[in-house]
Amino acid sequence: MRIAVVEDDDGVGDALVDALTEVGHEPVRMRRGTDVLLGHHEMDVVLLDLGLPDMDGLEVLRKLRTLSSVPVVVLTARDDERSVVRALRGGADDYVVKPARLGELHARLQVAARRRHTTSDSAADKLVLGDIVVDLVGRSVEVNGRRAALTTKEFELLANLVTRRGEAVSREQLMDAIWGDAYVAISRTLDVHMTALRSKLDRPGTIVTIRGFGYRWVT
Ligand code: CA
Repeated sequence: MRIAVVEDDDGVGDALVDALTEVGHEPVRMRRGTDVLLGHHEMDVVLLDLGLPDMDGLEVLRKLRTLSSVPVVVLTARDDERSVVRALRGGADDYVVKPARLGELHARLQVAARRRHTTSDSAADKLVLGDIVVDLVGRSVEVNGRRAALTTKEFELLANLVTRRGEAVSREQLMDAIWGDAYVAISRTLDVHMTALRSKLDRPGTIVTIRGFGYRWVT
């Protein structure tokens, strides 16, 4: 597997690259969050540190999830429950606390890669959903051949729903993924963006409200 090893600490990063190479993988060392946002395309799985020099790993995860469904295993020294929950809600497939036992880490990387491979075809850069085409890389949307002018947040909202289409996505997941937190004030902001998104898509019934929980994309 091609594994993006996103780790700014050379001691840890080099040891991981050596260990993963030894068991037959092709690790690609990256030192900054920006590197993986630009270089995730060829990767089978991403191993993501949270303490990165250019941006927080949770922010990297949030941005990455609007671009790609590549499996992500978080590897970090942060072992508090809040960080774990935020990472998992934000779209991480697994979470391993440093120092990692290499055998276990290897197994978790394989499971994450396999699960994503078998349960999702949403790794495609372009999703065709009826007459709606979502370009996750170019960050644009066409409805019936006509470009829909979405704001950045509206696009992120759409991307979060379509990459998990058919699944019930909770309001908290969306708020965590797009705004980084799930405050009451954000909850109203989510409503405003949802209304705008639905109106711009003009396809009633594609985003179903699940009362008391969240939303589901159904095409
Ligand atoms: Ca670090």
